[in-house]
Amino acid sequence: MTAAADRTPTAPRRPPFAGWLGTTNDVTKTFLAAGRIEGLINMAGGLPAPETYPAEALAAIARRVIAEHPQDALGYGPIEGLPELRDALAARLGGPDLSLTRDNILVTTSGMQGLDLLGKVLVDEGALIAAQAPTYLGALDAWRPRRPRYRALRVDRPDFDAVAGLTGARFGYAVPNFSNPTGRLVPMPVRRKLAEAALATGTWLVEDNPYGGLQFDGEALPRLIDIAAGAPPVAAPGAAYEGPVIYMGTLSKEIAPGLRIGCMVAAPEMIAALTMAKQGSDLCTSGVTQRIALAAIEDGLIERLQPELTALYRARRDALCAALAEHLGTWFTFEVPVGGMFVWVVARDPRIDTDRLLNAALEAGVCIAPSSVFDASGEDRSAFRINFTLNPPERLEEGVRRLAGAVRRLAGA
Ligand code: PMP
Repeated sequence: MTAAADRTPTAPRRPPFAGWLGTTNDVTKTFLAAGRIEGLINMAGGLPAPETYPAEALAAIARRVIAEHPQDALGYGPIEGLPELRDALAARLGGPDLSLTRDNILVTTSGMQGLDLLGKVLVDEGALIAAQAPTYLGALDAWRPRRPRYRALRVDRPDFDAVAGLTGARFGYAVPNFSNPTGRLVPMPVRRKLAEAALATGTWLVEDNPYGGLQFDGEALPRLIDIAAGAPPVAAPGAAYEGPVIYMGTLSKEIAPGLRIGCMVAAPEMIAALTMAKQGSDLCTSGVTQRIALAAIEDGLIERLQPELTALYRARRDALCAALAEHLGTWFTFEVPVGGMFVWVVARDPRIDTDRLLNAALEAGVCIAPSSVFDASGEDRSAFRINFTLNPPERLEEGVRRLAGAVRRLAGA
């Protein structure tokens, strides 16, 4: 008699997945899967508070723009973005020394697409990326399929040498405002060093700025692109910007991430290259959301939302930092961020392993983001990132209490 298995025709072998998929480490997988655990307090993500999304205002705008601009909203549009939106972004993002034209602007399907396009136009296998360390996980994810090498830009160190950092790299990558993951500001002297090094070496320097609008205390510092544009010779008014800084913005944190609208500001030759890459990616960003974004900018929606948003997040930051100091101060240190969405919590004892802490935290019903996922080499286990924008104060405090329980268990205390 033939066994049932013998009668089943053998399925043909499927071709393998691309090799880079095998290079994602287990912690990244655990961390990404954690969102589905029921009852979990998610303090790992970089998510805005959903109650801040201006649903009614956006619904009214959407209805109006689709009725008034059906062709722009519902048809295929130019790859670079709708001309009116590019003009509005050029006007909004220019500065006293930074003259921008439409040719400096690419509308993207949010910041993540911009990072992906940068990989497409600048990274061949083995190419060197000089990235502020620790580095935004989404950027590492976007560039991973291209198998780059990394050099860590340690912008927090007093002896940081920006020229040595950028020399030989395809591009530098920095998040100067309330960095993801550390929540820190790159201080003014280091901003100057980075901008001057980009000008001196000719290296492209990517300034990723999703959090600049979420500043709770103090004055905003100049952007890298302003500093670079202000160095002589300053461009004539009305001329296109030609410098080495590639600036990236998004409406995800100041309005709503579901819009998936962002933009890149760069020299026209870079915008042309990115446009070629975008053509092979999505042909154009949704016209519906581009028209909504344009109307939101023209209506002053961002400025109207900002005071309430920053007040809410400031209070949540304070609640999280108070809870961290009370429950985790023995084992960890942290700086209070003046903006953004994150606190970077560093172990006092080098024996604390934050990869192991992630597993213990998940068992305790809370999720944090361990430092290894923000390290191109995956080795740093000395810190974790914790978010304060998604949860209200009582949940933040409960999350930190659960985390402290996990730390005590790990420490055998
Ligand atoms: N860059 C950084 C540093 C971020 O933190 C994020 C969002 N987490 C992004 C880019 C991308 O955001 P989005 O695609 O929503 O614009």
